[in-house]
Amino acid sequence: MAFTHLSAKLTQLAEQGLYRSRRVIDSPQGIRLHLDGSSVINFCSNDYLGLANHPAVVAAFKTAADAYGVGSGAAHLVCGHSTAHHALEEELAAFTGRERALLFSTGYMANIGVITTLVGRGDTVLEDRLNHASLLDGGLASNAAFKRYAHADTTHLALLLAAAAGNKLVVTDGVFSMDGDAAPLPELARTAKAHQAWLMVDDAHGLGVLGAHGGGLLEQFGLGQDDVQVLMGTLGKGFGTFGAFVAGSELLIETLIQTARTYIYTTALPPAVAEATRASLRLVQADTWRRDKLAALIRQFRSGAAQLGLQLMPSDSPIQPLIIGDSQQAVAYSQALLAAGFLVSAIRPPTVAQGTARLRVTLSAGHDETMVAGLLDALGAIRVAQG
Ligand SMILES: *Cc1c(COP(=O)(O)O)cnc(C)c1O
Repeated sequence: MAFTHLSAKLTQLAEQGLYRSRRVIDSPQGIRLHLDGSSVINFCSNDYLGLANHPAVVAAFKTAADAYGVGSGAAHLVCGHSTAHHALEEELAAFTGRERALLFSTGYMANIGVITTLVGRGDTVLEDRLNHASLLDGGLASNAAFKRYAHADTTHLALLLAAAAGNKLVVTDGVFSMDGDAAPLPELARTAKAHQAWLMVDDAHGLGVLGAHGGGLLEQFGLGQDDVQVLMGTLGKGFGTFGAFVAGSELLIETLIQTARTYIYTTALPPAVAEATRASLRLVQADTWRRDKLAALIRQFRSGAAQLGLQLMPSDSPIQPLIIGDSQQAVAYSQALLAAGFLVSAIRPPTVAQGTARLRVTLSAGHDETMVAGLLDALGAIRVAQG
């Protein structure tokens, strides 16, 4: 009999505390979620600025659905590239201070497409160990020599670069998705440049949230196209919508349009999603208060958690993980928090390394001080013991 190993695999996942199940949400995305007949406060979404259900973003989406319909009809290079997509690309280029920007249907596809386009057999791709799965998969799929350097370790990177062959691409998360810390981008840019390598930064969790105008980690560090040749951002997190983009030189973007398979062979995003994102981009830039409020909530959470004796990670971002260690224990804490009315996800291997299962608390500008205080009380009451 074929495929009999599948059910054994599922049983094994369950025994290891690694079985995952989906919660069915019966309300708009937001701070208060309705699930399984009750209302909970959401501390696990990536909607850091509270834009996923913002009235102006919803209105832009509806207006554009009337103007463009729902489906884009085809890939960008066939007949799916609308005025809405084009305008968003121009605005994203201006926003990031790059020559051009190119929309992708998802961040996962953007990362696969960029890495497999820029490096191949005979080249070298060098990635931070803790990079997002889509970046690691892109590196593996590229056929280039694939090297991982120790987390945020530019000395280790320099050693690997010195021995690397062909075209060299250094790839890193900006804000690390499961740890919340920031990559040492100025040092990475210097190291890459010293070895004639290009640097690619995936700032999925920094864009919108960091930088005076929401330009992310690159704005915070003042890094231009000459320092970071490839900037990738997602639109489903801080921007609250869906999709992704890559920004950089004219040469980079034209190369991607001509040759990136995950760009060419897929249907363009619905134009209404592009119009909704244009509305959210305006809010990201204009509403400085969202970033200020988020920063205050992050400070409140960190000082409260430290008072409770919880072990925090070195993160200034809205991603505030509490490492538990054991997967089953992390799930048990997540369930106890849910019973107390707080939705916090337990993140387990293989998303994170063995023995580092964690509660991944994420904060949003939509939270208020009372909610954060409530979460801290609940964490104290269940006496989270960290591994
Ligand atoms: C979410 C995420 C992605 C994937 O983006 P999608 O648009 O959800 O496919 C890529 N990189 C990082 C760092 C992410 O957090």
